[in-house]
Amino acid sequence: MNAPLPLKISRQAAAQAYDSVARISNEVAGKLAARLAAETQGEVLFSPADRGRYATDASIYQVMPVGVFVPRTADDVKAALDICRDMQVPIVPRGGGTSQCGQTVGTGLVIDYAKHVRSILAVNPETRTAEVEPGIVLDHLNAALKKHGLWYPVDVSTSAQATLGGMAGNNSCGSRSIAYGNMVHNVLGAKVWTSSGDLLDLGAYGSSSGKARALGNHVRALAEELHPAIKKRWPKVMRRVGGYNLDIFDPQSERPYTADGSVNLAHLLIGSEGTLALTRSLTLQLSELPKAKVLGVVNFPTFYRAMDAAQHIVKIGEGSLTAVELVDRTMIDLSLQNPAFAPTIRTALIGEPAAILLVEFSGASKAELLPKLKRLGELMGDLLLPGSVVEMTEDAPQKNLWEVRKAGLNIMMSLKGDGKPVSFIEDCAVPLVHLAAYTDALTEVFRKYGSKGTWYAHASVGTLHVRPILDMRREGAPKMRAIAEEASELVRKFKGAYSGEHGDGLCRGEWIKWQFGPEINQAFAAIKQHMDPAGLLCPGRMINPPKMDDTRLMRFPPGYKVIPLKTALDWRAWDVQNDPVTELTSASGSGGDPANGFAKAVEMCNNNGHCRKFDAGTMCPSYRATRDEKHLTRGRANTLRLALSGQLPGLKAEDSLASEAVHEALDLCVGCKGCKRDCPTGVDMAKMKVEFLHHYKAKHGYTLKDKLVSRLPEYAALASRFAPLLNLRDRIPGLAALSEKVTGFSARRSLPKWRRKTFFNTPPACATREEVLAAAKPVVLFIDTFNGYFESENALAALQVLQAAGYTTHIATKKKPDGQALCCGRTYLAGGMVQEAKLKAAELVSALLPFADKGIAIVGLEPSCLLTLRDEMLVMGLGEAAQTISRHALMLEEFLAREAAAGQLEALKAKLKPAAAPILLHGHCHQKAFGAVSPIMDVLRLIPGAKPELIESSCCGMAGSFGYEASHYEVSMQMAELSLLPAVRKQPGAIVVADGTSCRHQIRDGAQREAIHVAVLLARQLQG
Ligand SMILES: Cc1cc2nc3c(=O)[nH]c(=O)nc-3n(C[C@H](O)[C@H](O)[C@H](O)COP(=O)(O)OP(=O)(O)OC[C@H]3O[C@@H](n4cnc5c(N)ncnc54)[C@H](O)[C@@H]3O)c2cc1C
Ligand code: SF4
Ligand code: SF4
Repeated sequence: MNAPLPLKISRQAAAQAYDSVARISNEVAGKLAARLAAETQGEVLFSPADRGRYATDASIYQVMPVGVFVPRTADDVKAALDICRDMQVPIVPRGGGTSQCGQTVGTGLVIDYAKHVRSILAVNPETRTAEVEPGIVLDHLNAALKKHGLWYPVDVSTSAQATLGGMAGNNSCGSRSIAYGNMVHNVLGAKVWTSSGDLLDLGAYGSSSGKARALGNHVRALAEELHPAIKKRWPKVMRRVGGYNLDIFDPQSERPYTADGSVNLAHLLIGSEGTLALTRSLTLQLSELPKAKVLGVVNFPTFYRAMDAAQHIVKIGEGSLTAVELVDRTMIDLSLQNPAFAPTIRTALIGEPAAILLVEFSGASKAELLPKLKRLGELMGDLLLPGSVVEMTEDAPQKNLWEVRKAGLNIMMSLKGDGKPVSFIEDCAVPLVHLAAYTDALTEVFRKYGSKGTWYAHASVGTLHVRPILDMRREGAPKMRAIAEEASELVRKFKGAYSGEHGDGLCRGEWIKWQFGPEINQAFAAIKQHMDPAGLLCPGRMINPPKMDDTRLMRFPPGYKVIPLKTALDWRAWDVQNDPVTELTSASGSGGDPANGFAKAVEMCNNNGHCRKFDAGTMCPSYRATRDEKHLTRGRANTLRLALSGQLPGLKAEDSLASEAVHEALDLCVGCKGCKRDCPTGVDMAKMKVEFLHHYKAKHGYTLKDKLVSRLPEYAALASRFAPLLNLRDRIPGLAALSEKVTGFSARRSLPKWRRKTFFNTPPACATREEVLAAAKPVVLFIDTFNGYFESENALAALQVLQAAGYTTHIATKKKPDGQALCCGRTYLAGGMVQEAKLKAAELVSALLPFADKGIAIVGLEPSCLLTLRDEMLVMGLGEAAQTISRHALMLEEFLAREAAAGQLEALKAKLKPAAAPILLHGHCHQKAFGAVSPIMDVLRLIPGAKPELIESSCCGMAGSFGYEASHYEVSMQMAELSLLPAVRKQPGAIVVADGTSCRHQIRDGAQREAIHVAVLLARQLQG
C-alpha cells in the first residue's frame, strides 16, 4: 500500500510536493502542486481522496480533477490563475458544489472559494447595495443584512449552502422570482479576472471603458448582427438560464434585466458557469425585507387542476404575490413519512389532496394582506374549489412549511435502491397558459419509458421540477436521452426554455445549440474566445460540450463495481431495488450489493450538500468547526464510496476501506447522528463510522486508548476499588502529561472521577423482578456504566423521582450476576469492537425482554446508551427481541412526558416546588436525532413557573471519548465554542440541564459551570 499523501501540502512541504504528487498522479500535477504550495497561502489538496471528493457535485457526473486549491484570499486566486495559465492547466471554480448539471465537475484545478474567500466588502443601506466576495453563502449574507432591514432576495432552496459566486455562475432563481427576478435581475456589478489575468470591472455599459468597453462592443456587434435570429430563437420566458446572456443588447426576457432598460455588462457573466471569468467580487442590489407575509395553501383534487389554476392565481395580489409553489402528492406522502416534516405538512392539508399550491403574499402589514387571502379563497370558489384554502397568517407555521417545500427535492431523493430520481429536464420553463398541458404530456412520456415523475416547485413562473426515476448503472443513460429528446420537443411546442433554472453544465450543454440555433451558438463561441482565448476556464462546458449521456463522465456508469464486504452490522435494509413507477422496494438483502447493503447505504448521499449548513439542526459539527469538505458528511460519504468502489488510486480495492485516506475523513466524525436526522436522504454516518472502524481496527489493531475506552464496562467495577489511586492522574502535576503520552488522553482534560462507592456496589432499595412484573404502575430503570460508576447521584435521583411519582421501579440487572453491570455496548461500538458490542447487547436483550414483552417501559438516563437500544441494537442480528425492546426503550424524560400527557403525574407535579433560577437546556445530539428534546422541555415545564430555554446548539464536541483525546482536543473545543459555551456563559445565573455525561463534562471544562441531569433537577425540586 502506498503511504497516503500529506493531509494538506503546506508551504514548508512545497519542496516535497512535486515528488509526492507526481508519484501518485503525474508530472504536471506534481509541478502544479509544488508551485501552488510555494507561491500562495492557500490549501493545496492533491491526494486521490481529496480529488475524489471534488470530482462530483449534485449531478450524476464525476470527473477527477488534477487537484484542489482552497485559496485564503482573493490574491491567492489570482496567483493560482497565473500559475494555471503558465502551465496551461484548466480551472474549475467552485462554491458550495450544489449544481445539478455537473457545472463544477472537470479535469482541471478545482478552486474552492467557499472556505475563505467569503467577506462582505461593503454594505450601503442608503443605496441598498452590497459588495461581496464570491464564496459567501446566501444565508450568511442575509443574516448580516438583517440589521439593516434588507435582504438579497434570490432565495434559492439551497440558501444555506449556495455561494453568491455559484449563484451568479448559474443565474440562480429563488422561489420568489415572480416578485424579485433571478440573479441577473439583482446583480449591479462584477469584478472578474479573465484567463489572461486582466481584472475587469463590469457594470453599466454606458460608462464603461478600456477592456470592459471592448468586451461590450464585441458583444453588442454580435447581438446586432444576430437580431433576427435572437428574435426568432430566444425563449421569451423569464426563466431562461441556458447559454450566455447575449440578449443584454437585445432584451428578450419577460422581465427586463435592468429597471431603466440600460445595458449592464456584469449580466454577461451571470449564468456563464465559470467559463468566461473568475469572479473577484459582486455588487448586489438588495431589497427591503418584507415586513409581513401570509400564506394560503390551496388543496387540489387533481394535479391538472393545480397546474391550470396557476395562470389565474398569478394575476391576483396587486403586486403583493411573492410565490406560488407546488408540492405534489408523492412529495406530500414522502413528507408524511419523514418524522422531521410530518407534523408540518399535516397543518397544510384538507383531506388527501392530489397537490397543493403554496401562495404567498408579502407587504407592509398582515392587516393589509388578509384581503389577499380572502381574494384567493374567492378565486378558488370561482374555479369551483370552494373551501380549499388553508390560511396561514402566523410566521412560524409558514416558515416550517417553506422548510418542507425547500427540502422537497432532497426528500424525493431518499428512495432506496439503484433507481434514483435523475435531474436532466427538471427545470424546463413553459409559459403558464401551457403548464397543465405540458406537465400532462411529459407525464405520458415518463410512462412510456417505464418511469414516473414527482412534480414540485415554481408554478408561478412555469418552472416545475420533475425527475424521472432512472437506474444509471443499467439502462438509465439511453432512457435519459430518449426522455430528454421528447421533453425538448414539448418545450419547443410550448415555446419554453429547456434550461430554466439549474444551468447547462455537462447535462444540458449539448442542448444550447438546439435551443438557440447554430448562429447564436457561434456567437456564444465568439464571446468565449474573446474572454478566454486560451480555453482555460471550464473547457468543454457551454462551448463544445460533451453528450449528456456520455457514461464515461458519470458517477455510476454501467459496470460500476463495489468490493465484496462481510459487514459487521446488518445493512440489508439498504440492499434493495425499487420499482420506478410504484417506488416500492424489494425485500431487504435482495439488491445485489456485494458489500451487503453497506455500499448502497453510502450511495444514498446524492451530493446535494445540505450538510454544509450552520443554522438550526445538528449536522455536521465537524464541518461547522473546520469548513473542510473532507470533514463534512458529504465528503465522508464520497470517501467511503470511492473506497468501496476501488476508486482510490494507489490502493488495492480490498485495502481501500481500511485505508488512512478513509480514516482521515472519518476521524473527526463525532458520531452525533445529526446526519441520521438532518440529512434528507438519511445518510447515517455515525453507524457507517462503526462499520468502518470495525474493518480499520481489524487491520491496524487497537490502541491502548481504544481498549481503555471500549472495555470500560468490563473493568469499571474493579477500577472503582482503586478510585483514589486512579484519580491521582488529575491531582499530581505532570501525571496527566505522562498519561497523555501513554494513553493519548489529552493532558488538558480532567478525566471522569472514579468513586469507591457506586450505584452498583451500594444499590438502593427497589422493586424485584417479580414485583415489577406484577405491579400496576411498573417501570424498569436501566442504569448505564457512566451513571452507575461515575455519577450515581443521577441514577439515585431518577429512582427517587419515579418512586415519588408512584411507579414500582425495578433496576435492571444481569440474569446471571458476574460482578459487572448491564451494558448496551456503546463504548465497544465507539471503538469499532462490534463483536464485543453484540455480546453485551445480547445479554442486555435477554435481561430486558421479559419486561418489554409485558409492555413495561425500560427507562434510561444516558442518551447515547439508552438510544442504542432504539438504533444500533437493531442492526446487530438480535432479531425480533431487539425490536420488541426498542419499542419500549425510553429516555426518562420521554417516559415522564408520556405519563404526564396521560394524566399519570399529578402526584409528582403536586410535589414539585418552583425553580430558583432560569433553566437552560442543552440537548444531547442523540436526543436531537431521535426527537427526544421536546420531551425534556415538557418535563421541565412540569416545574411550577419554569420557562426552560433550549440552547440552539450542535454537538457539544465531547461526543463520548472524542473530546478527551489529545488529537481531538482543539476541534472539540471549537465545536463547543460554536454556540453551546457562549450560550451558557451568557446566562451566568441559569441552571444548565444536560443529560449527556460528556456534554456535562464539556460544559464544566469550557464554561466552568456544573450542568445537571434532568433527573437531578426534578429530584431537587421535590418538596419535603
Ligand atoms: C436540493 C437542491 C435544490 C436546489 N434548488 C435551487 C433553486 O431553488 N434555485 C436555483 O436556482 N438552483 C437550485 N439548485 C442548484 C444550485 O444549488 C444553485 O445553482 C446554487 O446557486 C449553486 O451555488 P453553489 O455555491 O453550490 O455553486 P457551485 O455549484 O459551486 O457553482 C455553480 C457555478 O458557478 C461557478 N462558479 C462558482 N464560483 C465561481 C467564481 N468565484 N467565479 C466564477 N464562477 C464561479 C461554477 O464553476 C459553476 O459553474 C438546487 C440544487 C440542489 C441540490
Ligand atoms: S450526506 Fe446527506 S445532506 Fe450531505 S450531501 Fe449527502 S445526501 Fe446531502
Ligand atoms: S454523525 Fe455527526 S459528525 Fe458524523 S457526519 Fe454525521 S453529522 Fe457529521
